[in-house]
Amino acid sequence: MTKSPPSFDYIVVGGGTAGLAVASRLSEDEAVRVLVIEAGGDHGSDPLVSTPGALVGQYGDPKYDWNFRSVPQPGRVGEARQPGLGPNHPASRGAVHIASPDIRVRPRLDPKYMSHPLDLEVLARHVQFVEKIVATKPLRSSFKMGEGGARLPPGLVGDTLEGAKEIVRRRLVSIWHVTGTCAMLPREKGGVVDRQLRVYGTRNVRVVDASVFPLQPLGNTQSVVYAVAERAADPINNCESVT
Ligand SMILES: Cc1cc2nc3c(=O)[nH]c(=O)nc-3n(C[C@H](O)[C@H](O)[C@H](O)COP(=O)(O)OP(=O)(O)OC[C@H]3O[C@@H](n4cnc5c(N)ncnc54)[C@H](O)[C@@H]3O)c2cc1C
Repeated sequence: MTKSPPSFDYIVVGGGTAGLAVASRLSEDEAVRVLVIEAGGDHGSDPLVSTPGALVGQYGDPKYDWNFRSVPQPGRVGEARQPGLGPNHPASRGAVHIASPDIRVRPRLDPKYMSHPLDLEVLARHVQFVEKIVATKPLRSSFKMGEGGARLPPGLVGDTLEGAKEIVRRRLVSIWHVTGTCAMLPREKGGVVDRQLRVYGTRNVRVVDASVFPLQPLGNTQSVVYAVAERAADPINNCESVT
């Protein structure tokens, strides 16, 4: 006799920050069966995972890192040095699209950094301010200035707004707080999920993770992901609106 396959009330795809928080909440009811499907490995006892701060050893290693890369961003040169600046509310909007019907081909990810002139203007004005700070005692002695061990490549000077904009364009790096690729917005505004986090056009497929944020949060993303997951778990159970 063939055994019938197990059935589940919920299938959570991705056992990351949001996925496990949602699965944990949904499975509080012992009558509810939850399946979590996670593509990554089991690194529970790996010191590179369990030691705070050790994550720098994981960068670029396919054992830990999916190594997704965006399409090249125009003008960007590469490595950055302190001091760093980050726009809390970037106005530029990127895009992610499938690149092939083959699921093994990675999607095309284009963050379109600095595509909105406001982002460039705001960061450039901050660069000008930072340039003043690093040229002022006592911080001045902590930074390499001028030819030789220069802090900035030759030709980059932040004493005019245009010069500061060039510094922004050429020194831009990203810091892994990707959000908003399936934003909770009206469909006509490019939204992917509705107020119940249901994917438009589907009956019961929901997205609960950092991708549903319609705006970049002011601070770090992780705590907001937990908040979204906690907030989403009850309505998923009760089929109510999340907002
Ligand atoms: C290097 C780094 C440093 C960070 N530092 C900070 C920080 O200091 N503070 C902070 O607040 N935030 C930080 N973040 C951001 C934070 O980790 C994320 O915002 C948060 O984890 C996103 O949660 P999520 O649930 O949306 O996605 P994730 O936690 O990334 O979960 C997604 C899960 O889905 C799995 N998955 C992917 N594809 C599939 C598939 N096809 N099938 C099944 N499973 C799949 C992945 O393996 C992963 O486990 C950092 C991120 C990185 C990468």
